[in-house]
Amino acid sequence: MDEIRENIVKGKKVSILGMARSGIAVASLLKNKGAIPFVSDNGESAKLSDAVISLRNLHIEYETDGHTEKIYDSDMLVISPGVPSASTVLIEASKRGLKIFSELEAASWFCRAPIVAVTGTNGKTTTTSLLGKIFDDAGRKFSVGGNIGKAFSGFADQLHENSVAILEVSSFQLDYVDTFHPHISVLLNITPDHLDRYNNNFQNYIDSKCRIFKNQNNNDYLIYNYDDAEIRKAINNLALNHVRMMPFGLERAFNEGAFVEDDKVMIRIDGNKTEIISVDEIKIRGSHNLYNSMAAILTARLMDMSSESIKSTLAAFPGVEHRLEFVRDLDGVKYINDSKATNVDSVWYALQAYKEPIIVLIGGRDKGNDYNKLVEPVKKHVKAIIAVGESAEKVRNAFSNLKQVVIASSMAQAIGEARKLASAGDIVLLSPACASFDWFQNYEHRGKVFKEIVSALN
Ligand code: ADP
Repeated sequence: MDEIRENIVKGKKVSILGMARSGIAVASLLKNKGAIPFVSDNGESAKLSDAVISLRNLHIEYETDGHTEKIYDSDMLVISPGVPSASTVLIEASKRGLKIFSELEAASWFCRAPIVAVTGTNGKTTTTSLLGKIFDDAGRKFSVGGNIGKAFSGFADQLHENSVAILEVSSFQLDYVDTFHPHISVLLNITPDHLDRYNNNFQNYIDSKCRIFKNQNNNDYLIYNYDDAEIRKAINNLALNHVRMMPFGLERAFNEGAFVEDDKVMIRIDGNKTEIISVDEIKIRGSHNLYNSMAAILTARLMDMSSESIKSTLAAFPGVEHRLEFVRDLDGVKYINDSKATNVDSVWYALQAYKEPIIVLIGGRDKGNDYNKLVEPVKKHVKAIIAVGESAEKVRNAFSNLKQVVIASSMAQAIGEARKLASAGDIVLLSPACASFDWFQNYEHRGKVFKEIVSALN
């Protein structure tokens, strides 16, 4: 296989768009495999200085501050997930008949280890990290990366056949796959997100997610959320019978798959029904995390990890920073950082995850949010809303007929207002449903600022 793959790129000119982590990693990988990479980024060189240093050290040609004609003088384009399909360069490249591949696709050409690929609108990082922990605790060889941590190109060709590549995969990386072939693919959920990148067409986004299983065969597994109507519909439309289907869900039991019976997570594989763990024993909370856990359990069992080992990891895994992360208890009020909740669906789950009344901070850079879905959980679980960021007015308009809404013009003010409204036994939850780029560099920065301010309260 290696030889065949290397022949795809040997001596070939490959233009790589995007000079972030994955662009540099794929340029270096392709150079090692005998290609002649050229990296192009339309960002300012001053902001790309680290990338520029890496490329110089690797003796790889590059350009910054815009794409020139040189990118079309190549045999193929490899793109970073940040490059939108509607960008002029990609439209022009297609017109000229250039093949376009994602960094994920290019990395997969050189991977000998089986691939576990996790996608979905929400829960990818949690599930991928949980899987990493299960593999680690079980003493198995593996490497985690893709959309989290290391770019796949950074380690794809270094994995031994008996190791496993556990990849978090975004829809942008799936947009340009060709032969990408996971042994196990996991489809967690599909709800509207990133529609700005998909011509405001939800179907385009669904199609993208479904590319994760298009090259699988009947030795492979598709683990999918049966309770997600969009996923069920997509799978029916594709009349899948080329891959072994492994559903998970809370609403019914399956002949093969994972389900809940008497508050216990059960799996049935090859006719063998096994109890894995009680729902209460799983440390990460909320029904969304139960779905994530079931997907991880099925994956781990199909990769031959023991039920005992899986159980002990699930009982201890605390979750990932910025996802319903407990910050502190002050005067009987719990402060929770869910800065990674950048869409409406993740907030819907966050609001279900607690029995206590919630004062929730919502707002930021709006991505075309429809807040109707939050009306019921807001009525049921929310005491008051603090509207923040660029979209504060929109948030107020959506909810002011249901609950008290206070607009705040900084994170510190938002936390101060929430504290004034909270009594012992309440929860103050940052779960913004929006991107962070209005006030912050990214969601991690937003979460950090929230945690710092909350930690300094006295
Ligand atoms: P992703 O990597 O897909 O963005 P994360 O695990 O980082 O997913 O979680 C993102 C947000 O979505 C967090 O607010 C988290 O609490 C919430 N979330 C996690 N899993 C799910 C799920 N299965 N369904 C809905 N929301 C989820």
